[in-house]
Parts: sequence; structure tokens; C-alpha cells
Amino acid sequence: MKIIDRPSPNFSPRSQDPDMVIIHYTDMPTAESALKRLCDPKTKVSAHYLISKTGEIYRLVPEDKAAHHAGVSHWRGRDSLNQYSIGIELDNPGHAAGKLKPFPDVQMESLMELIRDIRTRHKIHDWNIIGHSDVAPDRKKDPGELFDWQRLARRDIGLWPETGSIWEWGQWALLGVCMISIWDRGHYPYIFGKRVRRPKDVMEAQKLLHAIGYKVLLTGEMDKETEFAILAFQRHFCTESLGKGLDSGTQKMLTRVAKTFQR
Ligand SMILES: [Zn+2]
Repeated sequence: MKIIDRPSPNFSPRSQDPDMVIIHYTDMPTAESALKRLCDPKTKVSAHYLISKTGEIYRLVPEDKAAHHAGVSHWRGRDSLNQYSIGIELDNPGHAAGKLKPFPDVQMESLMELIRDIRTRHKIHDWNIIGHSDVAPDRKKDPGELFDWQRLARRDIGLWPETGSIWEWGQWALLGVCMISIWDRGHYPYIFGKRVRRPKDVMEAQKLLHAIGYKVLLTGEMDKETEFAILAFQRHFCTESLGKGLDSGTQKMLTRVAKTFQR
């Protein structure tokens, strides 16, 4: 694996071995513009690595130092994650002005190779390979809904729930038949409008989000923190439900992911 050194002055000491990898996008038009920004002492921001669209890997901060990439953040009971993590930036223009682009194959391959290499030096838990939006849902959207977490999981990097069993599909088919008959009788808005927003459902979602690692309080109310955590969860695990609130797809996936993320 070829690594190009491009040292950044923006880092702090750290006292313990990292056990997390946090994935970002640069939110800049080119890798060069992002490298300049991450190496500028005035910006104070950085990451350990940056991977260009064409797959080149740049090292900005040594792994035994804390790069300034996560900011105010929380995951699985810990805050200020710069201390515990390795930050990897992916060259991508990001969400601004709707420019988010798919991540090219060559960039994804370099990322997976880099994470495997990092794992030869540090014990990185699968439940700790996550996105910036997972650890700072109220401020961040990166790496975004076009990032293919399933592809990583197929190569044993990070966690993804297993596909539903035959029984699960059977349940869905049965549910479909029931739904059609209910719809026929005009009860559709009740099913889709009210059922999924009961305080009990919100509380259950908060418990599951908390079990996975997100920062939420168990209030039983759809507060701002919960709304942002649900959006971050959808960006990572069920993009087809993105922005649809606590719909049945999100509820189902929350249960499956929480099971997979059990401590
Ligand atoms: Zn970020």
C-alpha cells in the first residue's frame, strides 16, 4: 500500500490507543483544496488520512496523535472522540448545493485496504467503524447516504445486520396482505399517520438508538436530538427511509441493527 506523506500541524497528543475509525467526506471540490485546508494551521482541523477520488492515500497526522476531525461528538457512552479514533477523509464535494457524488470503486478499495492495514496496528472494534454523522448527528451529514456501508461489511469491516430469514419474509408477505385489506376499508392514514408516532414507539426507538451508540435521552418524545439521531441512522442503515421520520422501515431496521450491535 502506497502512502503519500502530507504532514498537518493540526493535532494534539493522545494517551491511549485508538479503537475507532470515523469516516468523513471532505466537502471540498478537489483533494488538493481539501489537503490545503487540513494542513493550514489557521483552520485547526485535520484528519489522519485523506483518500482522493483516484484512490491515492495521503497521511496527514501520525496515528499516535489525535487529529482534529470529530469535534463535539459522542458514541457508545464516550464524548470527544478525537482521543479514541482515527479519522479518514474521502475526497467528495459533499451535500452542499446537492453535489454529493458516489464514491468511486478505486477510492472504496483504497479505504478498505487502509482500514485493514490500521487493524494490524490497533484493535478497532467493528461497532466502532462509523460515520461522522453517526457521532455528531445534529451538525454533520458525512460521509452521506451514497456511502456503501454494506460493501465494507461484506469484507468484514464494520457491522451490517444479516438479511432477513425466510420467516421474516413470510411475515412481510402476511403483513402485505393485511395492509391491502385494511387500506381497502379506509384505515390507511391510521396505520401510517398515528401508529408509528406513539410515545411508546418513540421510547422504543430511543432505546434502540442508544443501544447502537447514538446520543439520545429516553424521553419518549420526538425531541430534536432524537430526530437528528434517526436521520443519521437512516443515512447509514436505511437510506430508503431517509427523511421519512420514524416509519415502519426505520423501526424494523433499528431492531435488526441493535441486535447486531449488541455489546
Ligand atoms: Zn466530517
